[in-house]
Amino acid sequence: MRGLVRTVLGDVDPASLGSLDYHEHLFHASPLLPGEDLVDEEASTAECLSFLASGFGGLIDATPLGLGRRPEALGRIAARTGATIVASTGRHRDAHYADGVYDDLDLEALFLRELTDGIAASDSQPEGARAVAPDGALMRAGQVKVGIDYWRISPAERRAITAAGAAHRATGAPVMVHTERASAVFELLDELAKEGVAASRVAIAHADRNPDPGLHAEIAATGAYLGYDGAARLRDWPESVLLDCLEKVVSAGHGDRVLIGGDVARASSWSALGGLPGLAYLGRRYVPRVRDVIGSVATNRLLVTNPARYLTWSTA
Ligand SMILES: [Zn+2]
Repeated sequence: MRGLVRTVLGDVDPASLGSLDYHEHLFHASPLLPGEDLVDEEASTAECLSFLASGFGGLIDATPLGLGRRPEALGRIAARTGATIVASTGRHRDAHYADGVYDDLDLEALFLRELTDGIAASDSQPEGARAVAPDGALMRAGQVKVGIDYWRISPAERRAITAAGAAHRATGAPVMVHTERASAVFELLDELAKEGVAASRVAIAHADRNPDPGLHAEIAATGAYLGYDGAARLRDWPESVLLDCLEKVVSAGHGDRVLIGGDVARASSWSALGGLPGLAYLGRRYVPRVRDVIGSVATNRLLVTNPARYLTWSTA
């Protein structure tokens, strides 16, 4: 399995991926976001089609365990639209879950099973039947997603990080980490290193919610990927701040460590549900600005080369 990218419709050659958005949610439901659940397969299909029309070829669905994953629906959407979709196993930060949920489960076994045997068909039955793709094949996750809080890594979050490390060592699957404004990144990378996860196999989600180019250059120097996913979200600064930060990081020689995503993730933000700006915003509005700032070659690296390298199963 090493050397391949694991999508919901099977393993593919990394060179075949095309332009990939490293962070979206085609299905999502969390008590943290009341009224914002993404649970309608037709809407997810329509949103995915508008996303593809904006110039992308695929996405990582970054929804981990217990947050409304619909793996079989993801498989149908991939088959119907032609999108390349990579699904996630893993556990988010504590704030998304009721107290104690998953405390009695063997997360290491669960993550590994979802990467190698198949994703749980029902998110409420993590140890139940496995999801099946439209062609009858078992569907597997392509990455592990975990999460930490703002300058805090709780015992349960630490347990998920340990389990992610074990699953990574066994498979080479990449590890994405939700951070709150890129806090505690170095502490997190230390924890992962102790578990045998090289920084170069880790993506730091939401790096540009703290658009500090000096910090980003230091993070990139460890080998970790910087997830830039703040453009289509609520921000306290103009998009130019994100673009300036990106330009500085690329100029400092770290253009091979940046991933671009939308993380739109809210019903009120989906065009298929009458909202704005929609998944197409990234391709239609943001990517052209990125191209203007860093040029086409560097932009293609962000959209094509880097996600393919990140997603390729390998332990180093
Ligand atoms: Zn997200």
